[in-house]
Amino acid sequence: MLHSGMSVDTMIRISRAFMGCEFELVLTGAEKAYLTDAAEEAFELVRRLEEDLSVFIPTSEIAEVNALADQHPVIVSPRVFRLLQKAAELSAETEGAFDITAGALVKLWSSAESVPNQDALDAVRATTGMQFVHLNERNNSVEFTKPGMRIDLGAIGKGFAAAEVVQVLRDARIETALVAAGTSTLYPLGFPPDADAWTVGVRNPLMNNERLTTVKIRDQAFSTSGSHERFVEIDGVRYSHIIDPMTGWPVKGLLLACALVDDPIESDALSTAFFINGLEWTRAYCQARGDVGAIIVTQEQPGDDPVVHRIGTLQDIGGA
Ligand code: ADP
Ligand code: MG
Repeated sequence: MLHSGMSVDTMIRISRAFMGCEFELVLTGAEKAYLTDAAEEAFELVRRLEEDLSVFIPTSEIAEVNALADQHPVIVSPRVFRLLQKAAELSAETEGAFDITAGALVKLWSSAESVPNQDALDAVRATTGMQFVHLNERNNSVEFTKPGMRIDLGAIGKGFAAAEVVQVLRDARIETALVAAGTSTLYPLGFPPDADAWTVGVRNPLMNNERLTTVKIRDQAFSTSGSHERFVEIDGVRYSHIIDPMTGWPVKGLLLACALVDDPIESDALSTAFFINGLEWTRAYCQARGDVGAIIVTQEQPGDDPVVHRIGTLQDIGGA
């Protein structure tokens, strides 16, 4: 649209690798240079978040917790403490499917050269459970009550980063943006130029470039969990990077699970929980909570076409 005396809207699309995926920003505004600066500021924030949250960076707050919290309480930053509290709530909410204390299981499977034996799995599984994490609000400290525990924010960190990025963009007075944290979490700000919702495609996990279905997003975050991009292969068999904390085994069953809800931290955690807990649990969960929508993709038999299940009362999950 042309305004007399005003500049034409510009759109930039820019991406950068963080947290093991590509963060992509689509920003709209009056001036390209201003948008590029805002994108750089957003990327700098994600870089700092990764430095705080990554289990792979030995100096991160989380790595320090993992190294020491089974010996004494470890004080973390207020931001990380609040995220851990939120993770504890989401764990309870999902009946323990989403569980950041699955970290030791995640590590075991991701580095396994052969399928771990059941005794080894049971020993590691015994270190899993939010009840063994003591969060002390008085000094923002974290303590583990089981030796060898590990927390892993892989199923919540990208959603958290998306939320923080949108806040930075909002502070920069950008009105229209779409943030994608890899395939994990999409989080928009405002509305696209000529529509009242963002139309987002869900990929067919069996055929990479094919679109299986679409969803409309308005002021909500949309997260996807699956096993087709991230997995480990052991003795020729692919195992999911998502672990069921109840059994200690990588999850099989669904092709994809997606969650639509206003908070990107929650959508990120819920897509993982839906993937673990399956179709019927997800149906019951969304029925009890009218503000959450889900898409579950199943396959009856190998070779069959994927089946899309749209779940929840959200109008947007009804599809385009
Ligand atoms: P993506 O990383 O593609 O967004 P998810 O959001 O589902 O996928 O997160 C999966 C990651 O979370 C795993 O790679 C691992 O680091 C961690 N994880 C695995 N199982 C669980 C679980 N049951 N609860 C919480 N985090 C998990
Ligand atoms: Mg995710």
